[in-house]
Order: sequence, then structure tokens, then C-alpha cells
Amino acid sequence: MALRVRTTKLDKRTLRTAGITLAAVAFIAAVTATAWLAAHWDATISSAMLTQARDNPTALRQFLGRMPKGGDLHTHLSGAVYAERFVEWAIADGQCLRTADWTIVNPPCADGTVTMQEATRDQAARDKLINALSMRGHEDNHEQTGHDRFFATFTRFGEVSRRHFADMVLDQLVTYQDQATQYAELMVSFAGGAERKIFVDALAGHATFDDKLDALNAAGLGPWVEARKADLAREIETIESKLACDINRTRPGCKVTFRFIAQISRNNTLNDVFVQTAIAAALARIEPMVVGFNYVQPEDATIALKDYSAHMRIIAYLATNPADAKPVNVALHAGELWLGLVPPHELTFHIGEAVNIAGAKRIGHGTSLAFERDADQLLKIMRERGIAVEINLSSNDMVLGVRGKEHPFPAYRAADVPVVLSTDDHGVQRTDLTNEYVRAARDYKLTYATLKRLARASLVHSFLPEPDKRKELERFDTKLKEFERSNSRRTTIIEGLKLIAGHAAAPR
Ligand SMILES: [Zn+2]
Repeated sequence: MALRVRTTKLDKRTLRTAGITLAAVAFIAAVTATAWLAAHWDATISSAMLTQARDNPTALRQFLGRMPKGGDLHTHLSGAVYAERFVEWAIADGQCLRTADWTIVNPPCADGTVTMQEATRDQAARDKLINALSMRGHEDNHEQTGHDRFFATFTRFGEVSRRHFADMVLDQLVTYQDQATQYAELMVSFAGGAERKIFVDALAGHATFDDKLDALNAAGLGPWVEARKADLAREIETIESKLACDINRTRPGCKVTFRFIAQISRNNTLNDVFVQTAIAAALARIEPMVVGFNYVQPEDATIALKDYSAHMRIIAYLATNPADAKPVNVALHAGELWLGLVPPHELTFHIGEAVNIAGAKRIGHGTSLAFERDADQLLKIMRERGIAVEINLSSNDMVLGVRGKEHPFPAYRAADVPVVLSTDDHGVQRTDLTNEYVRAARDYKLTYATLKRLARASLVHSFLPEPDKRKELERFDTKLKEFERSNSRRTTIIEGLKLIAGHAAAPR
């Protein structure tokens, strides 16, 4: 009995102590949670807003339109311009339309062509022309695949884009600023076929890469590239004078930083591809506005397939030679392929060779990942080396027919390979960068935290030199804080708490 009394006393004391301890723990937890929420209020509200908006296309587009998206690392300058602009410029320049193949050509308007005024005489004629110069309405044309329609457009507006380099850049700067995007690496071809012919001819009879490079230097590659640098400087002067930025850079386009990536057209002879690559590497070494090079044109075309491995070896050599010159950044279209487009064997090695032979720092598309010989090993290498993949969701849908669950976007993310969202050709494909974020958020149920990481990664994996990159990242972090603050200003504290309680995002 005595023992029971003592136990009861002890239990009461223990209980009281336990109660006080629990209350203290609860109090500390509440204070900590409140302090955490106060410190992360803006980001938590933004996160809940995105979760709420994910299934509401209007709200999602609005939210992601305003969200700072860092940079677009995969965009072809002429493919980024909407057809309406090309039509406007072609009319102003007095160009003509060759009606047989919808190609805009230079005046005088010969037989088989009409003036651009005539080509756009009424709404129906204008509509047909805009469709022919873009992917608009391509779903209705069952005689031509999205792939063929896409690649056919470039030659149609080629004579306009050639004459409007500065205008195209200006057009893009304004477009990106409108979409809360601060940086773009614009892919551009700097050497036309006729211009580079003397260098291609100079390679005849030379077998080794060393001999070929010596032959190009003997044929005057250095001064020729210096002249291209001067041309580019003049174009940039024109761009800056047309931008007419004020001290606070408030005018349209003035807040967007831009650089160029030199394009190499891969469906040419091996010597021509060597020449183009040598020109691109030399230009990137002497011109800070050119931050790297990339191979373009259909990866499934006959020469691109036949010479793919040889191209990778040319890239590996010219990006790192001469030995005393600084290495050049390489981003490569690799794996913009799918089952059915090419024989299965062709799907097994393109991304792997771009990484392991060419030394690419970024992969464009990487769509055919599932068909690579050892995708797990490839993903491991990409993760360890920090090789980013530029994901172009709309482009892959339209050109390759790959979308949703079939797309390797989740596989790259699951393997912790750096991933960025980009547009590819938002003019031809009638899309924009915001749309790529909308698709990613909607189709892959991404959280706000993930979308932020993707946007930031587009600056981290840019080819900017480190000091410039740091500046852009600081600018991005500031803009993101402003965006999140602007979101929390849209709610009262009570509304905010309700929003967070109803739409807390599970990490994905
Ligand atoms: Zn591309």
C-alpha cells in the first residue's frame, strides 16, 4: 500500500514534468515554425500559388509569364523570329515570293514570283504565307510530317533573315524581356557557303587534322576571322544604337544580356564541316560575344548520320587545338532522334559520343536517351561532369512527335543530370519560353522549387565567363526575390495561411 502511494506521487510529479516539457517543446516548435514561415513567407506563398495554378491554364500562364526564367540556352536566331516579322521586312525591302515553293527571294521579281504586296494582298493569301513560313496549322497537313515541315521553313525565309541580323536580335531582346528572361545565347551562322569555299578548297590533299589546320592558317583563316569579328562589332553597334538604352535600361530589350553561339551546318562534306568548325572555334577565341559553337541541321539527314562519329572527332580536335589556344565551349545537338525516324542502330550512340568523344559541355535535346547503348552509364557521366541537357518540349513534340511520358525529361531529372528548359525555334514553332515552363509544370507536375532550380540552372550552365555569370546570377536572385515579394503582396496573412494550408507542395 505504502509503495502504491509513493508510486502515485512519483507518477504525478513525472506527469507534471512531462506536461511542462511537452508544452515547452510545442511552444518552441510553434515559435520555430512561425519564425521559419516568416523567413520563407514569400517563397512559400509563391510555391502554394504555383500548386494552386498548376491545373488552371490561365493562372499557370500568368504566374510563369511573370516568373524570372533566367536564360534561353538553346535558341536559333532566325528560327526564333515570328513569320509576321519576316513578311513585314520582306515587303519593306521590295522582295518577292517564289510561288512554287513559298520561298522569299530578292528583287527584281522574275517569272514565277510575285511581289510581297501581291503575296499578302488579302487575309487568305497572307494566312497561307504565314503558315508556309512557320509550323502554324501543320497538324492539318497530313501529307508532310512535322519534321519535314519544320526544316522546310528555314530556306523559305533565309533571304530575309540574312538581311536583318540586327533586327532579329532586337526582336528577340524585346521578346525575352517581355517574358521575364534576362539572358539568351543566340545560335547564328557566321560563314556562308560561298564565303568559306576558298578554305574548303585549301584542304584538298591534306589528310591529318594538324595538316588541315596548318593549311587553313596558310590560306588566311586568321585575318578572315578578324574581318568577321569586325562585321559583328558593326552589327552590335547597330543593335545598341537601335536599342537606345537609357541609364536605367528601362527601354524594351535593354535588360536582356545576349551572347552568340556559332552554328556549323553538319550536312556538308567533311572538309566543309572542318572549315566551319575551325572558323567557329577561331571566332569564339577572339570575340567574347561568341561563347561557343554547336552543330545544326537535321541530325537524321544522310550526311549527318554517315559522318556523325567523324564530326565528333573534328570537334574534339578543333575545340582544343592549337594546343596553346584556350579551349572553346561546345554545345551539341545530339539525340534529336526517335524510333522510326532512323534505323534503330542510329539511336544508340549520338549522345554518348557527343559527351565522350566531342567533349560537349551541354547536350541539345538528348531525346533518344532511352535507345543509347548504356543510358545509365551515360547519365552517370553527365551528372559527374555537370553536363547539362537543353530540353525543348514543344520542339520535340512538333518535330519528333515525342511528348509526355515518352520524353526523357523525367529520366534526366531523376538521374540528377543538370537540366534547362529552352525553346529551340519559338518563331517557326509559334511558341515561347513561358510556354516551355507551362508544359513542364503541367505535364510533369513540377513544384515551384523545381521550376526555380531549372531557371537558375539556365544561368549556371551558360557559357558566360565566371565574373559575368556571377553578375547574372545575382541579378536573377534579386529578380526572383522581387517576384516572390510581389506574389505575397497579393494576399493578406489570413489568405496566405489558407493558401499554404490548402496547397502545400510535396517535394518532387
Ligand atoms: Zn536546335
